[in-house]
Amino acid sequence: MLKKKWGQHLLIAGGILKKLVEFAQIKDEIVVEIGPGPGNLTKELLRTPLKKLYLIEIDPEMIEKLKKSISDKRVIIIHADATKFDFSSLGYKDLKLIGNLPYNVASFIIENTVYFKDYIPFAYYMIQKEVAERLIKGYSWLSVFVRTFYNLKYLMSIPPRFFIPPPKVQSSFIEFKRKDFEEIKDLIKYKKFLTSIFAQKRKILRNKIPENVLYKASINPHSRVEELSINEFIRLFKVFENKN
Ligand code: SAH
Repeated sequence: MLKKKWGQHLLIAGGILKKLVEFAQIKDEIVVEIGPGPGNLTKELLRTPLKKLYLIEIDPEMIEKLKKSISDKRVIIIHADATKFDFSSLGYKDLKLIGNLPYNVASFIIENTVYFKDYIPFAYYMIQKEVAERLIKGYSWLSVFVRTFYNLKYLMSIPPRFFIPPPKVQSSFIEFKRKDFEEIKDLIKYKKFLTSIFAQKRKILRNKIPENVLYKASINPHSRVEELSINEFIRLFKVFENKN
C-alpha cells in the first residue's frame, strides 16, 4: 500500500533512474539516500562504486521491504525522519545525498540539509518543479537561505507519468553544490533574519531594518527584499548581527 501522507510516488522508469544516478557522478564515496521506498533508485545506486549507502526511510513497511530485497553489504538502513535527521551522527565529513523526495516535506528536508552543510558538499534531489524553480530563480527566505551556501543547478524535468501513482505536478531533479566558503555561523539566527525580512515582501527595507544598518551595509533603504542579491543579504545580515 502506498501512503499519501508520506508522499509516496515511486519512480519506475529504469532509464530515468539510471540518468539520475549518472548526474550524481558517484565514485568511491559515502552516499545517503533519502526516502528509498521499496528501493528502485537504491538498486541503481548500488551499481556504482560507492563505499557505503545509508538509506533513511520513515515508513516501517518500506523498511521491511528493503530488508527483504537488498542484501548488499554496503547498505545501512536507518528508520528515521529526514526532516530532522542529524547527518553529523554518521561520522563522515563528505556525504553525497540523493533522493526522490516526498514532496509534502521536501522544503523541510532541504532546510535540514543546509543545517548540516558542513557534512554535505553535494545533494541531488527530485522535487516538485515549481518548488525547484522558486529555489533556483525565485525569492523566498528558503531560496536565499539555500543559495547562500549552495549553487543550484537544474538537471532535468520528469513528467508525472514516470511515477506510481503519478503526482499532480511536474517534477525536477536538481543539484546542490556547496560553495567554497561562507562564514555565516549561526544558521538559526540567519533563518530568523531572512524570515523576518521576507515577511511583508512589498515593504521597503527601511520599514523593517534600522536605516543605519542599511547604510552601513551599503544598501539602499528604499529597496525591497526582491531587489537584493545573495551577497547583499549576506552583507546585510553580518552588519545586522553585529548590532544585535
Ligand atoms: N525513492 C523511491 C520513493 C520515493 S517516494 C522511488 O523513487 O521510487 C518518497 C519516499 O520518502 C517514500 O518511501 C516515503 O515513505 C519516504 N518518506 C516520506 N517522508 C519521509 C521523511 N520525513 N523521512 C524519510 N523518508 C520519508
